[in-house]
Amino acid sequence: MVDRSCLCHSCGRKVEFSQEELPCDVLSGWLVVSHMKGLETVDRYSFCSFSCLQRWVASQVPEIPGIFLKSMGEETSEW
Ligand SMILES: [Zn+2]
Repeated sequence: MVDRSCLCHSCGRKVEFSQEELPCDVLSGWLVVSHMKGLETVDRYSFCSFSCLQRWVASQVPEIPGIFLKSMGEETSEW
């Protein structure tokens, strides 16, 4: 059973596709995050844009972005 719709976990935007449409066409530009939770347990989250993904991540772990950006800055300074 193939899921014929996709819901953005951040803004709630939903796209549906018919039997004839390819999901990869309809979901062009979307981001899908897999959250490995253990043996054969995977949560998948879909987002319609990078800003939706960013907003969702910030709501999940509000304390991370600052540290994350800091480590990114340290990495880029070496380039
Ligand atoms: Zn969205």
